[in-house]
Amino acid sequence: MRTCSLCHGQSADTETICPHCGADLVTFSTTAVALARYRANPRVEQIRLIVPYHACAACRAAEGTYTKADVPSLPIAGCSCENGCTCNYEPMLNDIYP
Ligand SMILES: [Zn+2]
Ligand SMILES: [Zn+2]
Repeated sequence: MRTCSLCHGQSADTETICPHCGADLVTFSTTAVALARYRANPRVEQIRLIVPYHACAACRAAEGTYTKADVPSLPIAGCSCENGCTCNYEPMLNDIYP
């Protein structure tokens, strides 16, 4: 499942253009926007890929902590989750105790 950050409309993982407002989901899906924001934030050192317990094998295999350069884009390639890829990013901050 992809959610458009501009109109909040939802669409299938296979869509690359939002069927509701025409936005480019490669750039404007909520996960893509979140990832771009984490990458731009110097306090974010690494990015963890959060994978739901019931996710498919492809998603489970992608679970882990990545550098900003290595983190895979969502939806995960080859995902076969019943309701679409529901993986998420979580930022790992480099100075939790400033
Ligand atoms: Zn949209
Ligand atoms: Zn999956």
